[in-house]
Parts: sequence; structure tokens; C-alpha cells
Amino acid sequence: MELPARVLVGEGVLPELSSLLHELGFSGNLLIVSGETVRQRVQSQIQQILDSSSLTNFWITVSSATQEEVVRVEDQARLSSMTLLIGVGGGKSVDVAKLAAFRLGIPFVSVPTSASHDGISSPFASIRGLNKPYSFVAKPPVAILADIDLIVAAPRRLLASGCGDLIAKVTAVRDWELAHEVVKEYFGKYAASLAELSAKLVMSVSADIGRGGKDGVRDVVEALISAGVAAGIAGSSRPCSGSEHLFSHALDFVAPGKGLHGEKCGLGTIMMAKLHGLDWESIRQSLENAGAPTRASDIGLLDDEVAEALLRAPSIRPERYTILNEVKLNRESALELATATRVI
Ligand SMILES: [Zn+2]
Repeated sequence: MELPARVLVGEGVLPELSSLLHELGFSGNLLIVSGETVRQRVQSQIQQILDSSSLTNFWITVSSATQEEVVRVEDQARLSSMTLLIGVGGGKSVDVAKLAAFRLGIPFVSVPTSASHDGISSPFASIRGLNKPYSFVAKPPVAILADIDLIVAAPRRLLASGCGDLIAKVTAVRDWELAHEVVKEYFGKYAASLAELSAKLVMSVSADIGRGGKDGVRDVVEALISAGVAAGIAGSSRPCSGSEHLFSHALDFVAPGKGLHGEKCGLGTIMMAKLHGLDWESIRQSLENAGAPTRASDIGLLDDEVAEALLRAPSIRPERYTILNEVKLNRESALELATATRVI
């Protein structure tokens, strides 16, 4: 099991970044990886915190979660003899920093500025290759610092997307169980329960999350961190990513640029829940409560794109056994599924 050594979640905890780094024994040069928007939001504040405790920090801006960006960050880190990478952001910068740090063999600290997916804490990084989204094994962050005041100021859509990525654990865990039964894959009850708990918690407070406010943000952040920990315990993304994620990844190249990761996972979860014979209506309702899309058209997806992604999903990761290996969809049944669940 690989788990973060320190997790700090709370209102206004950002200034504690320097003491956290000192406690973990970090000194030397730190490279901070962020996106442009986030950099404008937090650079001066973070710089002030680190400068005042003599932590030498350099910044690099990334524009996308791609191999090229990972290599660019690696080169920069090597050039300036960096001893630590800090990913500051919601998605891409955290993923890029995590993978670059892993390849360099140096530690990585996650400072999420939004709660849009479980990458803020998981040992995996989603980095796009040439024409396919890949999930790379990296290491979990050595520390996570989540300042609720910072995250509550992020666009609401990102928080709703985080809910979609969490509710997805319901079907991810069912798919994992199914793989255990059918193809005798290792199934970790504890990791599965922890991931499922994150999903159930968010479903139970989905209306609060939809109303906004710090309590809802905190629930989502803690659930995302727990889900990342579940992946760390399992040593695989299995508890967090099943057929609903395959659907989301298929959409990444059937309809590139439409919808956020968690939004697509949420739609996938509604449909995969129906295939599993689960209560998909309550999943749908929870997403709606949280303000996440429940219809493909909410994120500009066409009916045909949904059907195409459902058909392509099983081939995204053929070794990952899911409900889509049991229920073989064709164009007609895919459209029927999406219609019956009111996704289209
Ligand atoms: Zn995800």
C-alpha cells in the first residue's frame, strides 16, 4: 500500500504549506506546476508563504495533460536540481506533476484548487498519448494540502464534476466484484468498501453540495481523497474506475472537448447502474441534486456520440472486465439504454 504521509484539509490552511514541507524534511529547490488561470489566482500568495520560510520555489505553467508537458516539466526539474514537485490545480497540472515526479524519483505534493476528480490524491495520472487517454501508474502524493477557502471559490461546475467522479465508484466497485467472480481477479474488500463509502456519502449529501457552501466542498474533497486512498490500498485504479470510466474515456475521443471527466463519468454511471440492475434513478437524482449533468445534451453530446462511446468503451481497456463484457451492446440496444435512463 502506498499512502500519503500527511493530509491537511481545512479552511485557510494554505499558509501551513511551508511548515508542512519543513515537517516532512523538504528543503532545496521546489518546482511548482500549475495551469495559467490557477497561477494567476494563487502564485503571489504561495510565493509569499514559501519565500518567508526560505523555500526556493520555481514555477512552470502547463497547458494540457500530455506526454510532451510531462517531459517539459521533467527537463526543467532536472535542469534546476529540483528535490520536490508541487502540483497546484484541479486536474491537468496535478497529473503532470505527479507523473514527472514519479519518473524523476522525487516526491510530489498535491495542492488542489478545485475538487473536480480523484487525481488530487490517487497514485494514478491520466495523461493523453497520441490519440488515447492513458492512465499511468505513478505514486500517490507524499502530502495533500486542501484549503477549502480556495476550493470553494472555484467554479461550481468543477465541484459537480467531482461528484460525478465519486458517484462513479458505485458501478466501479460492482464491475470489480464482477471481475472477481467471473475472471477471478483480485478483489480487495476494504479498498472496495472505502471507495463505495465515498460515493454513498456524496449521494447522501448531494442536495447540500448543490446548494454550494463550505460543508459540501469539504465533503467532496474528503471523499475524493478517500477514493484516492482506496486506489492506493488496492494498488490499482479498480475501486475507482469501471465501465462508467471506459464510457467517459471513449467519449474523450468520440467527442473530444465535450464535458469534464467527472461529468462524463456521471452519465456513464447512470447507464452502467441500469445494466448492473442497480437503483439508477437514485444515482441520477443525486447527480441532479449536486448540479451535475444527467442528460448528454447538457454537455453538448449528440445521441449518436453517446451510442458510439457505449460501443467503443469495452475496447478502451480490453483487460478490464466489466458489465460491458457481460451485456454486449449493439447500436440499437445502446440507444435503448441511453433512452431508458433518460441520458438521451
Ligand atoms: Zn475518474
